[in-house]
Amino acid sequence: MKAQAGTIYLVGAGPGDPKLITVHGREVLESADAVVHDRLVSPDLLKLARADARIEDAGKTPGRASRSQEEINDLLVELAREGLSVCRLKGGDPFVFGRGGEEVLAARAAGIPVVVVPGISSALAGPTAADVPVTHRGVESSFTVVTGHDARSAGDAGVDWGRIAGTPGSIVVLMGVGNLGAITGKLIEGGRSPDEPVRVVERATLPGQRVISGTLATVQQLAQEAGLKAPAVIVAGPVAAVLNDSETT
Ligand code: SAH
Repeated sequence: MKAQAGTIYLVGAGPGDPKLITVHGREVLESADAVVHDRLVSPDLLKLARADARIEDAGKTPGRASRSQEEINDLLVELAREGLSVCRLKGGDPFVFGRGGEEVLAARAAGIPVVVVPGISSALAGPTAADVPVTHRGVESSFTVVTGHDARSAGDAGVDWGRIAGTPGSIVVLMGVGNLGAITGKLIEGGRSPDEPVRVVERATLPGQRVISGTLATVQQLAQEAGLKAPAVIVAGPVAAVLNDSETT
């Protein structure tokens, strides 16, 4: 399907591996007049854009550190108003901690048609790529996805860690690797066992993907020793160790 003139497409790029974009997303990317991409989007994916497409890094603007969300919204609307088909390429899924909803609202307010193309979120691909089934029959029947961004600050971005800990099911934390110690501490404080298995998956589905396995009590030190850094997904719960028995490595 060719991208239509004057339309903004919010496209999920998938978690990292360029093969994990959807067919629909790829078609939009290959045909769009303009591509506005996130920092985390693979350079290999951008090679699929038309040679004459206008490519903008949403995170960068000449002479300035970064664009604000409002500036990104304005850029998208401006490009569509010029009559271009616009592929807004976002890491993972556009609506999982991606501020995609704000971009839809801004486009609608400007009277620009928007199409949202779902993507594979790192919230799912991270655990899966690290051999962790977020649900597993007889072990866990639900999972919670939460941001770890502000886990050290008083506000905690509105995250009630006590409630997260107390809710049954696996816990998947995005944007949390820098606050790993604070997060595991709060989960233990909230009633999770210090022995609960945890995996941290760095650069999931990308070359050089690394996985650290430990428990709520040990994982922070292990991750620190390994020098683990963003982007990484943390997954906690019995599911984090459920495939251990069948591991061959
Ligand atoms: N919309 C994105 C998430 C954006 S928030 C999605 O659905 O995946 C950015 C966070 O996503 C990072 O801090 C990290 O926690 C996670 N992330 C994105 N790509 C990742 C990758 N390849 N490996 C591990 N974590 C990743």
